[in-house]
Amino acid sequence: MKQNIIDKFRKIHLDFHTPSWVGNIGKQFDPERFVDTLQKANVDNICVFAKCCHGMSYYPTRIGVRHPNLQFDLLGEMVRALRKAAIAVSIYYTVVWDDSIVDAHPGWAQRDREGNPRFGYGKLWRTVCVNSPYTEEVVLPQVKEIIDGYHPDEFWFDMLWVVDEECFCDYCRAKMLSMNLDPESRQDRVVFSDWTDENFIQRVTSYIRKCDPQIGVTYNNCVRVGARRKTPFMDVFEIESLPHAWGYWYFPLYSRYLRSFGIPLKGMTCRFHKFWGDFGSLKPVEQMQFEAATMLVQGAGCVIGDQLDPGGKLESSAYENIGRVFDFIEKREPWSKGWSPVTEIAVLADTEPGSISQGKPSPSLLGATKVLIESHEQFDVIDEEHEFDSYRLIVIADMQSPSKLLLAKLERYLSGGGKVILCDRSLAGAGSEWLGKNLGFRWRGRSSYTLDYIRIRDEKFRGRLPGIDMIVYDRFSLVEPITGIEVLADTIHPLEERTPLRYMSHLQASPGPKGEHPAVVARDGRMVYYAPPIWKSYFESGNPILRQLAANGIRYLLSDALIRTNAPGSAEMTVLRRDNLFVLHCVNYSPSRRGNHPEVIEEIRPLYGIEAELRLPDKPVRCCLIPDRKELPVEWDGTYARVVLPRVDIHAGIEFKL
Ligand SMILES: [Zn+2]
Repeated sequence: MKQNIIDKFRKIHLDFHTPSWVGNIGKQFDPERFVDTLQKANVDNICVFAKCCHGMSYYPTRIGVRHPNLQFDLLGEMVRALRKAAIAVSIYYTVVWDDSIVDAHPGWAQRDREGNPRFGYGKLWRTVCVNSPYTEEVVLPQVKEIIDGYHPDEFWFDMLWVVDEECFCDYCRAKMLSMNLDPESRQDRVVFSDWTDENFIQRVTSYIRKCDPQIGVTYNNCVRVGARRKTPFMDVFEIESLPHAWGYWYFPLYSRYLRSFGIPLKGMTCRFHKFWGDFGSLKPVEQMQFEAATMLVQGAGCVIGDQLDPGGKLESSAYENIGRVFDFIEKREPWSKGWSPVTEIAVLADTEPGSISQGKPSPSLLGATKVLIESHEQFDVIDEEHEFDSYRLIVIADMQSPSKLLLAKLERYLSGGGKVILCDRSLAGAGSEWLGKNLGFRWRGRSSYTLDYIRIRDEKFRGRLPGIDMIVYDRFSLVEPITGIEVLADTIHPLEERTPLRYMSHLQASPGPKGEHPAVVARDGRMVYYAPPIWKSYFESGNPILRQLAANGIRYLLSDALIRTNAPGSAEMTVLRRDNLFVLHCVNYSPSRRGNHPEVIEEIRPLYGIEAELRLPDKPVRCCLIPDRKELPVEWDGTYARVVLPRVDIHAGIEFKL
């Protein structure tokens, strides 16, 4: 059955959060109409509710609180109908948001320092602590009840979350002391919150695997750099990434990290315009197809969120739209399911600490992701525990305080011919001796100027950049070249640091004297260092010159990129491989935002005549367009296969058979 979950690329996540005051639960539920709507929409898996965030259960439970206005086994009727229709069944179970449990057991609530109950999502949804008897007395028995009663294909646990990464309840205090952690130390409380999540995941997954090893298990709210230790207890990783809440960078960033653990990946968006529970809204089909395409090109399945009306009737208009998205996916699944990414660059990211409910990437990490996607580079996001040797280039986005493990690995990587790009305070904590020996410069603190200009000295590095002194809106680091360093660009200070007493015009003063410390340096064609925080500056300013500056460093070190193309930066391109087949995917991003509202994608402006060269290990014997399999002419120069994508609406690709 686990394979049954992994193979499903067209899943519905059917929210059903209904407080006890809502009446007539499931009164309009018709199992035949329910599955008929899903089948017409080409759905192959659905997550249905056992227990919601209000703490209500939707089946005759002996352990939890059955919704008082539900008169029949809604979950059971759904499961029976889905089984008949061969649609895989996932079971939703909320963990810590549960008003009914806090009412029944006030002592099990998560507590703040003053002893008040903790809330999730403003002052709503009271939260239970999983270190209380709740896990043993409610969660595990209810899981067993659901397994025995409904034999699901998958458990989908939501809201595993220590609010603010600290709980002061009696159970947590006692457990921390028994682990020699100090409940008065914020740092220890954050460490303990991480342990709390991991311990829960281990206990619950082990229990389910003992009951029935074929049932898949996954947990929401685990998306962050540093999720490594949770992955052995998850059969699928789903990245909840509603773009209007998380942004269009969240999925592309974390998918490139989480896919590296070898666990099947799915992305989750929703059919609503704003967020969950935005009843009365319907996202354009084109927008959902675009979001699904960004998942497919990572080899990930697609989950679309909906919310069932309390009466139990699916919104047929929503499923007409969802059906068009799932038809779009089904045509492209053969070039995504079971394929592996081909990458050559790694972005090395700091571990995000604690049990935060979702990753909060630094501006540097976001900026590096944005530059690399817009430059069509093929990359993974990794942490210090990943293997480095398979990458030709490592982008060190932050890492101000590198661990001994990281420095030892980097030293080996560099001495083996590996290449790195770093900036500002990356690795500053390694110390002068390490930096001097391995990178050829010393880090001497940060500039007294809040911003500076860059004047390029090296024409190879300049590329298409203009011949002006280019502003970077951030404070530079001061570096001192030691050995083998080539200066690619100089630092130019503004005429004056802007103060209320001395200022010039509307923004920074114009370029003035040349600074003593360089702005960009290189060594041996294997290292490029930027004195400003180049990735962060680009992400925060959006100045295209800064993207080009950062991208030129990559091209300086890797002249033979995996993909060479004239595609616009708005197009995301990826390469996937399966055996002797390679596929070059292209997703066309054409949003509209002319107001203070989320980005909307509805009128697609097609891309025409995208020229692309893909570096391949051998000459392709056949080349075809996907998804329609039409044969395409290809030129081979011994290294690159050259093709032209005639038209890309939302997604198109090219398959190369070697
Ligand atoms: Zn607690």
